[in-house]
Amino acid sequence: MDHFHYRDGELWCEGVPLARIAAEVGTPVYVYSANAFRDHARAFRAGLADVRDAHLAYAIKANPNVAVLRLLAAEGYGADVVSGGELARALAAGMPAESVVFSGVGKTEAELVRGLDAGIGQFNLELEEEGEALARLAAERGETARAVLRVNPDVDAGTHAKISTGRKENKFGVPIDQAPAMFARLAGLPGLALEGVAIHIGSQLFDLAPLEAAYRRVGELVATLRAAGHRITRVDLGGGLGVRYKEGDAPRSPAEYGAMVDRVTRAWDVTLMFEPGRVIAANAGVLLTRVIWVKPGVVNPYVIVDAAMNDLARPALYDAWHDFDPVVPSGERVTANIAGPVCETGDTFAMAREIDRVAKGDLAVFRSAGAYGATMASTYNSRALVPEVLVDGERFAVVADRIAAETILAAERVPEWL
Ligand SMILES: *Cc1c(COP(=O)(O)O)cnc(C)c1O
Repeated sequence: MDHFHYRDGELWCEGVPLARIAAEVGTPVYVYSANAFRDHARAFRAGLADVRDAHLAYAIKANPNVAVLRLLAAEGYGADVVSGGELARALAAGMPAESVVFSGVGKTEAELVRGLDAGIGQFNLELEEEGEALARLAAERGETARAVLRVNPDVDAGTHAKISTGRKENKFGVPIDQAPAMFARLAGLPGLALEGVAIHIGSQLFDLAPLEAAYRRVGELVATLRAAGHRITRVDLGGGLGVRYKEGDAPRSPAEYGAMVDRVTRAWDVTLMFEPGRVIAANAGVLLTRVIWVKPGVVNPYVIVDAAMNDLARPALYDAWHDFDPVVPSGERVTANIAGPVCETGDTFAMAREIDRVAKGDLAVFRSAGAYGATMASTYNSRALVPEVLVDGERFAVVADRIAAETILAAERVPEWL
């Protein structure tokens, strides 16, 4: 069920009209549906129902709001974190440390120590030296860190180049052909319990074939490692499942994904970790915005909205498409460009898009903005940091305040020698 739906001619999120949120909180504002998050979390879990010993670590970077994390913790999700800051969020949300996976190609030693302090369940090693550092830090404390080695399977995920991570020239993981020798060196270190391997080949994947190819390579690697005498108990299959952003998008469902995973991994006899992000968060949120002006254009008019690339970076960063729907549809279709107020041509959400006619002062939403939305927001052009609202049935709450440009200015200093 779509929790963003029209009722009596206006757009609601669950049991709350979006116009009410705009009136009370102002715009731009992200609005999340708690029940959409729950539905997506349950659908992903249900897709893996046939997979023995599957653990779910939500990729926090997709949407790290602490209220969202609390909600997913209640659904039994752990966390995939990529920084000390994300680790702090997972713990603040009440996720058990045991359920936390620490990924990331540039973990500092201070961050490794934070992970050890917290007692997290799994470090994903991205290079040999990181494994040596983690082993040393853990051994100094008389502890053993549980880790897996992230390998780069060299498959083309067939997604946007900026969210592709599993080709050999990408910065992530160690080359899969070097993994056995590296594994042997690291597995012998005191302080380190190297339990298996991890991969993550990219994001917004529509086709299961590259994932399946990568998983099969991992299966071969597991067999090679076992033949060499290693005890392999854990494989992390990453995230990456795509979602619908526009009409005609046909992502594979969690059930189809789960059937593929079951088929490929059935004989592996390991604990499987999954790191879904976008598939949980993207369609659980919208960015609610107000039209400032409709500016006549040379070809098409520009609808200038009060949301901008600093609030939702995906169109500027990846040429991403977000549906633009009015809160109160006029029913009259027009072709327009949609842009924000930031002084960059890149601050354009859509060109020559067929939309419902909107006028100055109207409310509208960018759909599918729950993942990689608010988390990438900045204050560029000295704009406020965009707030977030969570709706649950007929209730809603501000779960992240708008941080005013003045507050950010107040954190800056002019040295006395100027
Ligand atoms: C970004 C990321 C994910 C989540 O990817 P989605 O496409 O949002 O599912 C999972 N694992 C790692 C290591 C990541 O970097």
